[in-house]
Amino acid sequence: MSTFADMNLQPSLAQRLIQAGLTTPTPVQMAAIPVALEGRDIMAQAKTGSGKTLAFLLPIIEQVMRREALSTAPGPYAKSGGPSHSAGPKFLVLAPTRELALQIEMELRKYAPASVTSLSVYGGTPIERQYRALQRPPLVVVGTPGRLLDLAGSGHLKLGGVTFLVMDEADQMLDRGFLRDIQRIIRLLPAERQTLLFSATFSGDIQTLAQSMQRDPARIAVDPGINSPTTIVHAYYVVQSDQVRTQLVHTLLHALKGGERSMVFCDQKYKVRRLAAHLGGEPASIGSLTGNHSQAQRERTLGAFRAGKIRSLVATDVAARGLDIQDVVQVIHYELPTNPNSYVHRTGRTGRAEKEGSTFLILSQSEEREYLRMVRQLKIETTKLALPVLAALPTPAPMPASDYQDPRARPRRSSEPGGRRSFGGENRGSAHRPGAPVGATRHSRY
Ligand code: ADP
Ligand code: MG
Repeated sequence: MSTFADMNLQPSLAQRLIQAGLTTPTPVQMAAIPVALEGRDIMAQAKTGSGKTLAFLLPIIEQVMRREALSTAPGPYAKSGGPSHSAGPKFLVLAPTRELALQIEMELRKYAPASVTSLSVYGGTPIERQYRALQRPPLVVVGTPGRLLDLAGSGHLKLGGVTFLVMDEADQMLDRGFLRDIQRIIRLLPAERQTLLFSATFSGDIQTLAQSMQRDPARIAVDPGINSPTTIVHAYYVVQSDQVRTQLVHTLLHALKGGERSMVFCDQKYKVRRLAAHLGGEPASIGSLTGNHSQAQRERTLGAFRAGKIRSLVATDVAARGLDIQDVVQVIHYELPTNPNSYVHRTGRTGRAEKEGSTFLILSQSEEREYLRMVRQLKIETTKLALPVLAALPTPAPMPASDYQDPRARPRRSSEPGGRRSFGGENRGSAHRPGAPVGATRHSRY
């Protein structure tokens, strides 16, 4: 089986894929799609940028289209009526960040016919609009856990009809920050369902945890042991001061050719703000993205970055997972990432779909040994580079006062117990959710 046409997909779906320029399924698609269509649970690990999204979206689209093709009697899949008003979605996709939930739904819309109705739901947007959209439940809901629970708790979203659950970036979803929410969601779903987990990284704990949510899953591991696409070149610099760190980022950003884009990751929001302000001599070309920005700002910035209006995006790990942005040719890590998975996912914003990319780490002398240990663990090769001639920094843009937070007021470090947080995808404001303890709102470093 080497083409989408060989996969026995509905002819119009295969046609759409070909029209979009996709002819050959990627290895994870080849492995997962037939198994998902047989009705089995799946736990799939495949490197960043290898097409995991369509590996779970195509089975959803195909299932709906097959049932439509069969259905003559009125029912939830009947062409005329669409899903009945009392019903909820049949397909639920969970994602760790708002941007990723939106991106997945956009990807679905690219390939699904109008009859595969869908909605993305996430925090930071007016919930009333989602209440209205759910009055006529879509077949597919893509969302972040907190907002899904809010909607389920208020009775606007009925999850009792979900027969197909996907967790994208599953290891992060089952990580401490989300686990309780996920468990609450699972309790609202029928036991009789298919559950698919996808990620580029899985830790040992997650495997055990996943077993409680899945039934005899097919385990798919594409390129096991290789955590990063082979089209990515890894390199690092050792610097003596933050001043040089910032100048080096500036120099690397300026080395790009027209149309090429960069992402720069920092481990804390205040560093993103500070760095963006230092680089901000040309504000039109640099944007920043953290969980502190309003959702409208986040979407504007990411939209401008996708459209090429902003060439460089400085971000926290809120942008590290799943985002698929064309022409990101370099990923810069402003300091050593807090763990290997973070390095893998940030880096994976480049080198997608077999394209070439580079990743640069900027380290202090004391971080070098730890980094080299990480490199050995990840089985990647890296090169230490000599500092280039550094370009002078522009005059710093003033830091918006409302944006600034004293770093000393952010006590949590990920090295502390409980420090690993939920990537800012899900600040739910102060709305109290039925059943949740008051004050349960999470705060994120990202
Ligand atoms: P992952 O979730 O594994 O990180 P994505 O699903 O975001 O990767 O896909 C990465 C890129 O590859 C996207 O731009 C997507 O359009 C593209 N892509 C997906 N499937 C194929 C395919 N079969 N052939 C070519 N490109 C593909
Ligand atoms: Mg993905």
